[in-house]
Amino acid sequence: MDIKKQFIDGKWVYSNAKNSREIINPFNQKSIAQVTESNETDAKTAVAAARKAFDYGDWAYMSSLERGKIVRKIAELIERDKEELATLETLNTGKTLEESRWDMDDIACVFHYYADLAQQKCEEIIDSQVPNSVSKVVYEPVGVCAQITPWNYPLLQASWKLAPALVAGNTLVMKPSEITPLTTIKVFELMEEAGVPKGVVNLVLGPGHTVGAELSVHTDVDLVSFTGGLETGKKIMQAASSNVKKVALELGGKNPNIIFADADFNTAVDQAMNAVFFHAGQICSAGTRIIVEESIHDTFIDALVRRVKNIRLGNGFEESTEMGPLISKEHLQKVISYVKDGIEEGATVAIGGRQPESEELKAGFFYLPTVLTDCTTNMSVVQNEGFGPVITVEKFSTEEEAIILANDSPYGLSGGVWTQDLAKAERCVAKMRMGTVWINDFNIYFPQAPWGGFKQSGFGRELGKTGLQEYQEQKHVFHNLQPEAMNWFGTEDR
Ligand code: NAD
Repeated sequence: MDIKKQFIDGKWVYSNAKNSREIINPFNQKSIAQVTESNETDAKTAVAAARKAFDYGDWAYMSSLERGKIVRKIAELIERDKEELATLETLNTGKTLEESRWDMDDIACVFHYYADLAQQKCEEIIDSQVPNSVSKVVYEPVGVCAQITPWNYPLLQASWKLAPALVAGNTLVMKPSEITPLTTIKVFELMEEAGVPKGVVNLVLGPGHTVGAELSVHTDVDLVSFTGGLETGKKIMQAASSNVKKVALELGGKNPNIIFADADFNTAVDQAMNAVFFHAGQICSAGTRIIVEESIHDTFIDALVRRVKNIRLGNGFEESTEMGPLISKEHLQKVISYVKDGIEEGATVAIGGRQPESEELKAGFFYLPTVLTDCTTNMSVVQNEGFGPVITVEKFSTEEEAIILANDSPYGLSGGVWTQDLAKAERCVAKMRMGTVWINDFNIYFPQAPWGGFKQSGFGRELGKTGLQEYQEQKHVFHNLQPEAMNWFGTEDR
């Protein structure tokens, strides 16, 4: 099997450490690729290449229209190779092929959206208090960006970082999750084909505690954009203080989904399942915390359990499959102990709560879709992110209580409210402390709308115009068109 390489300074190269890593399919643990394993020296070499391309290359000074054309080309190449990319994503993550195809469509849209934004003006004239002068704000790239991504949406998360960084004129070093690098490697091939100049985009592979840590602490990096877990986010923030580099953190969530008794019952049940069980719950914004009005609690649980029982687990490449495996053995163990802790704290397993028994599924990292009832806010299973197919259910009796429960979390990434009373929905939304809130829906996002967290779900925003501004510095330029001496310090002949 060919060993896949890193991409540094316009060349595909092996790590100087000469180590490689096996990439496996979480559905059956079979090897699907061999990838060179970068180390700190590779990270330093990649940063040096990005630095040189930023400081001495043309990229940062090219018109954003020209950069936009290249970013548009990347979008078109992703559309061309959609099936190959979707297949790779399913092989590497286990998610259904249909979900991977949606991801590829979304990813192409992200590149198109930022290519469109490249056409907007990059400076803004502002009012000047001084006669005969021009005062303007110009938007410039931040510089060298480190971009560190997780395994759950490998290429989608990468696209949210790559497209705005490129349009804004930055150079970058990306490090995907060491267990899901395949689609990111392929997109670097596409960026090369699209004509991104040498040194502008660099790819290193390998572990976070070495390669990721080096990128975060390196003083030639001007910005680190990270998507991943809370504990890693804290380490990155500390490392970034080495040179006060800019930091953007997209972290986890334990997201409340409030269901009022007056909601459209069947739709709310159906969407409550979608909110969690897509990609086996490995979605940062999954609505894993159902908060349901007491009067419908029992009927809601009954309906949910009846439907969850029918979810079909299996190979993401089979059309009948609705839910794939978890990403790794380690992650499966985490989900198992997360549920065990919940049960010990008093939660009741309404369905699931274990691994499936079929021989075929035992070869992969499967966990049954699970509903835990009798949950209370103080339980670790309610406070912590499980990142698996596990719903916790709490109940409330008043609107005020629902909001207090929803906000009682260290996280603030997303939330949902289900009701037909629109005034009630708006009152709830105004008080919910989350970066995204859905009314009568869940997990909808698109390139035009900013994405990010309140509280310990992080800071900074991806997507939308704000997603571009994260990669821009603002420079105020004041031009005096008729300079005159002020003579504050007198004149030469006084
Ligand atoms: P993780 O924090 O373990 O790893 C994420 C990335 O950080 C990987 O590339 C990893 O190699 C790297 N890393 C690990 N240690 C590092 C260190 N010390 N310094 C620098 N880099 C390091 O997260 P994960 O398990 O890959 O992803 C799951 C997490 O990501 C969940 O918490 C999920 O909620 C979060 N997530 C958030 C969003 C969002 O938009 N807010 C989106 C997707 C995933």
